[in-house]
Amino acid sequence: MAGKTTGIAAGRRRVGVLALQGDVREHAQVLTSLGAEVSLVRRPEELAAVDGLVIPGGESSVIDKLARAFGMQEPLRDAIAGGLPVYGTCAGLILLADRITDAISGQQSFGGLDVTVRRNAFGSQVDSFETDLEVPVLGAPPVHAVFIRAPVVETVGAAVEPLAALPDGRVVAVRQGNLLGTSFHPEVTGEYRFHRLFLESVRG
Ligand code: GLN
Repeated sequence: MAGKTTGIAAGRRRVGVLALQGDVREHAQVLTSLGAEVSLVRRPEELAAVDGLVIPGGESSVIDKLARAFGMQEPLRDAIAGGLPVYGTCAGLILLADRITDAISGQQSFGGLDVTVRRNAFGSQVDSFETDLEVPVLGAPPVHAVFIRAPVVETVGAAVEPLAALPDGRVVAVRQGNLLGTSFHPEVTGEYRFHRLFLESVRG
C-alpha cells in the first residue's frame, strides 16, 4: 500500500508533550522509555499530528497565557472535546479542570474534566512534600508521590472517577473518559504506571 507509514502501521502511536512551559523533558523521557514516539507540541499543526497529549507541571497561569498567545487555546479545547487522550500533571491538571479555585485574575483553563481544582492547596508552609499513595487502579506497590505547590481536586462531577486520595480524603488523581489528571509528579520519581495508563487510552 502506498502512502506514509503511520504510527498505527508501525504499532506505535505518536504522543505529544505540550511544550509551552514546565517539566516537558521529564515527561518526554518517560514516554520514550515506554516505547511511544514523542513530539513536542507548541503549534496547532503539531497538536493535530498527535494521538495523545501530556500537559506537564509548571505554572498553570503561564501555560494558559502562552497557549492563548500561541493560538493554542481553542485547538486544545476542541481536541479535548473531540476525545483526545490527555494526561495532566499538577499545572496540567489545573489546565484540564472545568473550574479553578484560587486562580490568578483572568486565568483560564482548557477544561474537559468536570472537577473543581484548588491551586496551591497546601499553602506556603508545606508547599512541597512526598508521600506514598494507594492507587487501586494501579495495584501494588503504592505510588511514591511528589507534590510541588500542588493543587487538590475539591469537587468531582458524576462522570469523574477519583483514583487516589490523601489520608484526609482530599482527591489527588482523577480520570474521566480519556482524561487523566494527577496533583503530583510521577515523571520525577521513575513512576511509569500513570503514563502507561495514559498510553493505554491512546492505543485503545
Ligand atoms: N502551583 C502551580 C500552578 O498553579 C502548579 C505547580 C506544579 O505544576 N508543580 O500552576
